[in-house]
Amino acid sequence: MIVLVINAGSSSLKFQLYEMREESVLAKGKVERIGMDSAILTYEPEGKPEIREVSEILEHTTAIKRVLAMLVHPQHGVLESAAQIDAVGHRVVHGGESFSSSVLVDDEVKREIKRLFDLAPLHNPAHMLGIQAVEANMPGKPQAVVFDTAFHQTMPEMSYLYPIPMVLYRKHKVRRYGFHGTSHAYVSERAAAVLGRPLAELKLITCHIGNGASCTAIRDGRSFDTTMGMTPLEGLMMGTRSGDIDPAIVPFTMDKEDLTLSEVNSMLNKHSGLMAISGLSSDMREITQAMESGDRSAALAFQMYEYRLRKYIGAYAAAMNGLDAIVFTAGVGENSAALRAAVCRNLTFLGVELDEEANARRSADERIITAAGSRVQVLVIPTNEELVIARDTYRLILDRNHVE
Ligand code: AMP
Repeated sequence: MIVLVINAGSSSLKFQLYEMREESVLAKGKVERIGMDSAILTYEPEGKPEIREVSEILEHTTAIKRVLAMLVHPQHGVLESAAQIDAVGHRVVHGGESFSSSVLVDDEVKREIKRLFDLAPLHNPAHMLGIQAVEANMPGKPQAVVFDTAFHQTMPEMSYLYPIPMVLYRKHKVRRYGFHGTSHAYVSERAAAVLGRPLAELKLITCHIGNGASCTAIRDGRSFDTTMGMTPLEGLMMGTRSGDIDPAIVPFTMDKEDLTLSEVNSMLNKHSGLMAISGLSSDMREITQAMESGDRSAALAFQMYEYRLRKYIGAYAAAMNGLDAIVFTAGVGENSAALRAAVCRNLTFLGVELDEEANARRSADERIITAAGSRVQVLVIPTNEELVIARDTYRLILDRNHVE
């Protein structure tokens, strides 16, 4: 079975084509600057040279058309015909309280994703454009949706409710949803496999630290609490997002700086975090380099980023009354030995004993980076959200075929 995985943003669209028997990637790529006359299509067919095309792509339907044309291109293609694609799987950021697992797309599912536009105004409308673009280009092709929030639907009320008037939850579903669920679920399963223990018996803290960052407490194989909230702004300090702040800062800043609500919202999402404190960059590579060359603001940004992450690890160990392992994943988590070392060196009270050499070793493999005998294990597990989307889509199609 061949599955096309799509992650549609408002002006971009990433894709990966999977052959599911081997779980191998046949091709991947992205379309950027959708809506412009100089949109860029980058296409990487497995075992063939990368191709980059600049052309006018004004909407998602054209973007999908170009992607399909590449996949069946006589010279660069990996398929003979688009009809060989059995199904399409989409990443959808917000599934609200309606979806606790992946589902096949039908009219009711589309209506529900639209109803959730209010909760994820930047993301869900773009995902819907992706779904509609596939419908336009491949009529009748089965599609599945995999939600970032689904894994966190197991959180207990005490984790997901905010201590504010309940009418806001009842009327508007104001609550913690959590994000990066596909990644937290995947790395927790892989961590259990690497540790050779059943996931259901482990207390884990998974740290997805990329441009966006979140930590999840996983108990009995289920999400028990997570740092992102109703939106991806809450929790850890991130590249350009503030994470937790005193909510009273919002009206105070509006008043003192004469800013609108939307301007403050944009400040907290796009001009805060590492970027704001370093005054330099939201990219951890640049922060680390600047810190090593003596830049004090970069050093402070790094220190705050690490400290805020470590505080949550401590909080979640208390939340679960114990801890077996900490898992690092995503761009920063997988690649920044400096951040992992800074976090782990201050968690000795929990029983974390870092193997400095294993931590510093550059590798794309799943690995344990604590010393033999460390009471709490620390692992680095590269995430693979696309593979989870492909697998869920494959499974849903098999189940459907079985029923029919
Ligand atoms: P992601 O959102 O998971 O794609 O992560 C992207 C982020 O990973 C980038 O913004 C960088 O800050 C970070 N990153 C990637 N490579 C490294 C590295 N070698 N060292 C530190 N941070 C890195």
